[in-house]
Amino acid sequence: MFDNLTDRLTGIFSRLQGKGRLTEKDIDDALGQVRRSLLEADVNFRVAREFVATVKERALSGEVLESLSPGQQVVKIVHEELTDVLSAGDHRLTPASQLPSVLMLVGLQGSGKTTTAAKLALHMKRQQHSAMLIAADLRRPAAIAQLQTLGNQLDIPVYSEDPGSSTPAQVATAGVRRAAELALTWAIVDTGGRLHIDDELMAELEEVKRAVSPHQTILVVDSMTGQDAVNAAEEFHRRVGLDGLVLSKMDGDARGGAALSITRVTGVPIKFVGTGERNDALEQFHPDRMASRILA
Ligand code: GDP
Repeated sequence: MFDNLTDRLTGIFSRLQGKGRLTEKDIDDALGQVRRSLLEADVNFRVAREFVATVKERALSGEVLESLSPGQQVVKIVHEELTDVLSAGDHRLTPASQLPSVLMLVGLQGSGKTTTAAKLALHMKRQQHSAMLIAADLRRPAAIAQLQTLGNQLDIPVYSEDPGSSTPAQVATAGVRRAAELALTWAIVDTGGRLHIDDELMAELEEVKRAVSPHQTILVVDSMTGQDAVNAAEEFHRRVGLDGLVLSKMDGDARGGAALSITRVTGVPIKFVGTGERNDALEQFHPDRMASRILA
């Protein structure tokens, strides 16, 4: 039994090398293994197929066929191509020139949106940027109290209103106005989620977006949900428009295939990775590290 793709490929190629020069068929056999590994890592079927085709083109260009260690060579190409796809777009989170920069967080219920709002506020604070959390998730009864508790823990102001008397767009607008009065750098708007995407949720988010014109609209996706995360990202991007993603719960055993599929399918860059329940469990996204994890 080989534990990971690197070992598997090295194993396949060492068997092939005994029989003389490698052929295109040998490469195809090895790339079949790459495709299976990607699917095991929860990469979307179509994305895996396209990805393997790209790798094959490079592998046949000579650098593998003539190599003394073709297994390692293929692993190197796969790693480089994975990093390349994952590197698309701007991974930083930089504030706009006007105050405050509005960051609107969207996502399905349970994806980790509220937790991520607090993590981002702490991240900004550590960069000497001031931030306000705005509780515009009026769907989940406990969301406002959860955000207030997190704000208290981190000493970050939280704007909220009585959920019975305002709409999410009104809360977001008033919160952003308050952040402007306080001359804060960031206003982070936590929005409502549902277990599944529906029209009502999307219409609500579109209204919030129109009301506060966010500088960044960021989707939080649960990395453990694999293919569902890809579908959610596609749909949120189509309806609301996304500037970036946070991949939550990467401390679990998700291999990170969703990262590859989502970036490939939507072109939206991953900005951060959530690595636990604590407020400081948020890491900058590193394409090369994610590539290694997908290959592992
Ligand atoms: P929301 O409904 O999207 O606002 O989700 P919450 O922020 O309430 O998070 C749902 C659950 O996921 C909570 O129990 C969080 O503690 C947990 N959670 C969020 N992010 C992470 C993460 O990166 N790792 C782990 N292990 N748990 C997380």
